[in-house]
Amino acid sequence: AAKHRGRDAWALYTPVLGERARQRALLLQDLGHALRDGQLMLDYQLIVDGPAGRPLAAEALLRWRHPHHGAVEPAIFVTLAEEGGQILDIGRWVLRQACRDAAGWSRPLTVAVNLSPVQLRCPGLVDDVAAALHDSGLPPQRLELELTESAVAGDEVADVLRALRALGVRLALDDFGTGHSSLAQLQRHGFDRLKIDRAFVAPLAAADAGQALALVGAIVTLARALGLACTAEGVEQATQEAHLQALGCEAMQGFRYHRPCAAAHLPQSIDTALARAA
Ligand code: C2E
Ligand code: MG
Ligand code: MG
Ligand code: MG
Repeated sequence: AAKHRGRDAWALYTPVLGERARQRALLLQDLGHALRDGQLMLDYQLIVDGPAGRPLAAEALLRWRHPHHGAVEPAIFVTLAEEGGQILDIGRWVLRQACRDAAGWSRPLTVAVNLSPVQLRCPGLVDDVAAALHDSGLPPQRLELELTESAVAGDEVADVLRALRALGVRLALDDFGTGHSSLAQLQRHGFDRLKIDRAFVAPLAAADAGQALALVGAIVTLARALGLACTAEGVEQATQEAHLQALGCEAMQGFRYHRPCAAAHLPQSIDTALARAA
């Protein structure tokens, strides 16, 4: 049936609950074989050290090119894959692919990989990470796992996070400030980095950025107090960069520096960024 649905069926999607549910069910069906059919791929976005733009890391961002609908938003299909359970196979593939890609880069940049809360609660995760490192030969300290606040909210993940840290990988708290994490959790789970969500970075561009400055300043201070590194997400403009730098945020990610690109183009992006920074 999937073959007979055109692009239009998706475009004409109506926000009626029944129709929406039907579309999601169809998409979920397609997602079931997207991995096997080679429709999933990784883009990478460089994370840089600020104005000079020296690359520090690259974040792997999952892409799904659907044969009829074209690119489907990760925000949509990752959620679907979490609900349907496919995120376990997909997430395992992302880990292996990202480690393999990073092992082949000409510079020892960190590779950041997003982990779903569903993966975090699956018993095989630590073995999967260990296998991805072993098979790729990537040194563990070059792998940084990005987790959201909601993923680490419960106490039951403490053991998994400890086991991951014992492998030597780094842990980053993604989208910081949008969820609810207690200071105690931040400290206990031994994170290495906070990623300040784009929602806090965007208003730094406004003429009247007083409150945004105070908020981001407080987050940077908090990170420092806990001994964590800090990355700002969604940096698009010079004003944001200037504020972030003045506040002491040491790593930046955003369209201002680099747009996510295909894995095959990343080595060239790294070289270009390095040449520009020199
Ligand atoms: P995220 O981990 O917070 O990733 C950053 C998102 O911000 C990416 O969106 C990136 O393209 C976007 N971005 C980067 N710089 C800018 C900027 O300057 N302006 C704006 N407007 N956006 C910027 P993307 O690729 O659509 O991914 C969305 C989310 O999907 C990710 O948010 C992450 O939560 C999830 N995701 C992506 N790949 C994976 C994956 O492999 N596994 C899991 N579990 N989730 C993933
Ligand atoms: Mg992320
Ligand atoms: Mg993020
Ligand atoms: Mg974000």
